[in-house]
Amino acid sequence: MGKPTGFLEYQRNPIPDRPALERVKDWDEIHEPFDADKIQTQGARCMDCGTPYCHTGMLLSNMASGCPINNLIPEWNDLVYNGRWREALDRLHKTNNFPEFTGRVCPAPCEGSCVLGVIEPPVTIKSIECAIIDMGFEKGWVTPQPPAERTGKKVAVVGSGPAGLAAADQLNKVGHKVTVYERADRIGGLLMYGIPNMKLEKEVVQRRVDLMTAEGIEFQTGVEVGKDLSAKQLTEDFDSVILCCGATKPRDLPVEGRNLNGVHFAMELLTRNTQGLLEAKDVTSFDIAAKGKDVVVIGGGDTGTDCVGTSLRHGCNSITQLEIMPKPPLERAASNPWPEWPKVYWLDYGQEEAKELHGQDPRKYVTGTKRFIGDSDGNLKSLLIHDIEWKEQDGRYTPAEVPGSEREIPCQLALLAMGFLGPEDYIAEELNLERDGRSNIQAEFGKFATSVEGVFTAGDMRRGQSLVVWAINEGRAAARECDRYLMGTTKLP
Ligand SMILES: Cc1cc2nc3c(=O)[nH]c(=O)nc-3n(C[C@H](O)[C@H](O)[C@H](O)COP(=O)(O)OP(=O)(O)OC[C@H]3O[C@@H](n4cnc5c(N)ncnc54)[C@H](O)[C@@H]3O)c2cc1C
Ligand code: SF4
Repeated sequence: MGKPTGFLEYQRNPIPDRPALERVKDWDEIHEPFDADKIQTQGARCMDCGTPYCHTGMLLSNMASGCPINNLIPEWNDLVYNGRWREALDRLHKTNNFPEFTGRVCPAPCEGSCVLGVIEPPVTIKSIECAIIDMGFEKGWVTPQPPAERTGKKVAVVGSGPAGLAAADQLNKVGHKVTVYERADRIGGLLMYGIPNMKLEKEVVQRRVDLMTAEGIEFQTGVEVGKDLSAKQLTEDFDSVILCCGATKPRDLPVEGRNLNGVHFAMELLTRNTQGLLEAKDVTSFDIAAKGKDVVVIGGGDTGTDCVGTSLRHGCNSITQLEIMPKPPLERAASNPWPEWPKVYWLDYGQEEAKELHGQDPRKYVTGTKRFIGDSDGNLKSLLIHDIEWKEQDGRYTPAEVPGSEREIPCQLALLAMGFLGPEDYIAEELNLERDGRSNIQAEFGKFATSVEGVFTAGDMRRGQSLVVWAINEGRAAARECDRYLMGTTKLP
């Protein structure tokens, strides 16, 4: 263990974010560069507690508790504290193909279950993870490692998000020839077009893709499997296929006025924005841009937060975020004990920026949308909203409108960020794949085999919209099962 008394001597001190009023003027990552000495000290706070929940990755009350890829956290905390960064990097890569992604965007369920967190702020695990891999790239320790031998087997991976990339990386390591098909013009799935630059700069994604290309993985962009190339053809041309197409069907809000100009799905804004930035365009001049507009984001999750951060950077006139759920408590409720994921109120980066710029958290809780109201030219001009009361009936809570609470708020851009309804249908229909009750592709966790022999699935396409860290977990494990299918045995973890 790092230092027996470290947790008594040192306060939690994660990699700091840049000041909100400064960072909102650009699209660079919100974090400061890491300071190796400070991070080393943070490693000393790990108590090596004997039963480290931080790396368990269990589901408690349906939420991840501990790291879903079972990162060997106490081990690398100790190595970092002792300045053995390169060994820490090797340990980290044993369980995580892409720590530079999780170190930036993971909500860190590991920290929610850290034993030190019972009495003190938890170890800053995510910052340490990010510093280890950033140091690795800085020092030139992360280099292409092509496999020594090839097996002669060919695998097609469809979709290049974190699940597809993790599957491809693992299969390539054991010598299979992997081709990744991606319908977008760039590789990365939601890492590229979804999570915005200020959380994950696109050079960071491309750096990993370049490394994987140098290791022998073939990437084909602009190929939509099921449309440009039949999925059946893939099953004939390859020894196995892994489907990692994500859960990209957005939940709509089919109320009056939905078709007005100015009502968009969140992903329309986020995708066009990233594309525009990559092409060095003035993103504030796009039709969909938030500049000068009163923006309302409908949905209080991660996607909604990214719309808030993006709209502020465009220079919106005002920003409001509507959430139908009640405001969470400031401290863990009795029904949400450690080591469960803490369901508490906090300001994510977008809300923090909105508060600094406009004086308040933009979220309005227990609020529903009744109607989009337009002008005579069909342009959105306001929203009719109302308060919500959650009523219990037969053990189920349902939202009900509070009578007399209806009011109109100005809005020229409404962004729908209310979650996703599962994968698109066409590949499942073409291959006649079984679906589960939520329309995801049916495949048992741990096995990842679909109802069609030789076809596997992983990530959001199997589990529904989730987290990058779960996509990596599933991509790795689906690769293991695919390798077992191809070779009869496997050494993959
Ligand atoms: C706006 C937003 C912000 C988020 N922020 C976070 C965050 O901060 N932290 C976090 O942990 N998680 C976050 N998530 C969730 C996370 O991004 C996803 O859970 C994760 O990316 C899922 O990975 P995946 O590989 O399963 O799918 P995806 O990343 O969705 O990738 C699927 C890929 O498949 C491609 N594809 C689909 N169909 C085809 C086809 N027929 N042919 C070829 N290619 C195809 C798609 O174009 C896409 O590139 C966020 C999600 C969104 C929408
Ligand atoms: S991947 Fe996420 S849960 Fe795992 S150690 Fe990193 S921040 Fe924690």
